[in-house]
Amino acid sequence: MRIATITNWAYGATVCLTLASGVAMLMASSAENVERQAVEQRYVFDQLTEEVEVDAWALSDLARLYVIRQDPAVADAYRQKAQAMVKIEHRLQKLNDAGAGEEELALLHEGLQVADALQDEQQSAIASVGRGQQPQAIELIYGERYERELEQVQNQLDHFRQMLDRRTDAAIDDATVKSRALRTLSEVMVGLTALMFLFVLGFILKRRVLRPVVRLSDVVNRLASQDYAVEAPDYRQIDEIGDMAQAIRIFRENGLVRQRLEQERDADWAIRELLARMTQRLQGCESVEDVLNVARLFAPGIAPGIPGRLWLLEREPWQMHCAAEWLDPQDESAPFHPDQCWAVRRGQSHPPVTGEPDITCYHLPDTCASHSLCVPLIAQGETIGLLSFQNVTPAMAPSRAYLELMAEALGLALANQRLRDALLEKALFDPLTNLRNRHHLEDALRTQLSQAQHTGQPVSCLMIDIDHFKAINDKFGHDAGDLVIKSVATVVQRAVGDKGMAFRYGGEEFLILLPGADDAAAFACASEIHTNVHSLALRYELAEIGTVDVSIGIASYPQHVQSDNLLRAADVALYRAKELGRSRIVSFGGLETG
Ligand code: GH3
Ligand code: MG
Ligand code: MG
Repeated sequence: MRIATITNWAYGATVCLTLASGVAMLMASSAENVERQAVEQRYVFDQLTEEVEVDAWALSDLARLYVIRQDPAVADAYRQKAQAMVKIEHRLQKLNDAGAGEEELALLHEGLQVADALQDEQQSAIASVGRGQQPQAIELIYGERYERELEQVQNQLDHFRQMLDRRTDAAIDDATVKSRALRTLSEVMVGLTALMFLFVLGFILKRRVLRPVVRLSDVVNRLASQDYAVEAPDYRQIDEIGDMAQAIRIFRENGLVRQRLEQERDADWAIRELLARMTQRLQGCESVEDVLNVARLFAPGIAPGIPGRLWLLEREPWQMHCAAEWLDPQDESAPFHPDQCWAVRRGQSHPPVTGEPDITCYHLPDTCASHSLCVPLIAQGETIGLLSFQNVTPAMAPSRAYLELMAEALGLALANQRLRDALLEKALFDPLTNLRNRHHLEDALRTQLSQAQHTGQPVSCLMIDIDHFKAINDKFGHDAGDLVIKSVATVVQRAVGDKGMAFRYGGEEFLILLPGADDAAAFACASEIHTNVHSLALRYELAEIGTVDVSIGIASYPQHVQSDNLLRAADVALYRAKELGRSRIVSFGGLETG
């Protein structure tokens, strides 16, 4: 029920109760008036009947005195008194006998008649004295009958007063009870009015003030603890509560906006931090695979909910191939020609605006073309790959800049890796023979020997030198010499295969490390090389270079030497092979063949 309805009903009830209480009060007052009138009436009756009674005795006394003394003054006094008594009787008879019963009135009239009869007898006694008949007069008003009549007047009037008292007392009691009841009723109604007023006041205070204030206070507390999920109460009334509710609503809305901005800022910071961390990790990468792992790990955090792929541009064949992917992209990762991507063609992100209609890249399936983004990976002005993203919605627009930053960092890292690989190749591999160079040897030797010490397996070292190479150089030229070196290197590499590692140790010197091979196995390998080099029929331009031979020295660990002397022992063996006439294999252990 609405508060207005309740208050209207309460006002109506209060007015009715107040009116009823007033009527009851008036009725109580009227009952008191009746009581007061009854008392007054009794007082008048009492007074008049008493006067009649006293006057009756006084007249009787005056009449008796006159009869005895025959003093005219007494007769005058008697007449005056008699006139006064007539007036009293008149008043008594004319008195409004409101409420007096028949019996009461009969008693009064009877009393008055007896008093009149007495007066008649007194006057006839006075008249008898005037006629000189004093003894008759005395007989009349001192006789027994006269005495009885005098007493009868008193008795009649006493009786009348008693009956009057009884009736008046009953009327007073009745009026008192009625008055009290009406007063009580009036007071109860006033009390009820007050109770109802208090109840309505309390109800309104509770509904209109207390409850809204408690609710608003609860909301304010939760808002103070930054719980903006709380619903602000919608009090629309035009008062202070309504103003407070309105202010709290505005405060909450501002808080929500601020919270959203803070969340966006925090998310922004988190993405920046991720980008910074990714850039740091990229700096520590030592291979393209490392870079791809970093991309797989960080991309879902930098672009949450956006599946993507990293494509690398292959030179042979000229195509983009998928090197990494994250968050399960929808389509297949089939390679495609770089021209199928508008981002690669234009050298910048495509489409330029998220969500706007634009030409779609041909390598994307129709299902995800509308919400895709391609960012080329560019290093030193050259496209080296591509980042493609799916499900990129306009809501993601702010993070688009981060996707481009990510592409920039990945592009740079991949370019660095390529540069690093190229430098590493140059640093570790001999450009003429493609064999490992001497720089590589140190690391490889240390690794192989420590593994051999650990596993107890042997390691053999073969040192190979082309015989009389200087003469080839001198005779056919330096380029022909290079051709010979390359050809011998090919034989060496083929003989080693994946059994070991081959190095170009110096100008026309080669070195082989054979892990797991003892002296015999090393000798077998050396024999193969020796034979195959010998079999080479090399030509340079028109000239036949002739037979090329090599001398080979072998040393094995732990068969011949300790680990730190392996190279030196092989060198000693080679020196012995040269000494013994070249084109032969000499083992440090003493095994040799010619
Ligand atoms: P030996 O049988 O005692 O080994 O005699 P050799 O002539 O092979 O040995 P020597 O050390 O006297 O000569 C090696 C020559 O190899 C000297 C150098 O000019 C030549 N040489 C070193 N590196 C290269 C290279 O890369 N290309 C060419 N063409 N010649 C090289
Ligand atoms: Mg040499
Ligand atoms: Mg030589």
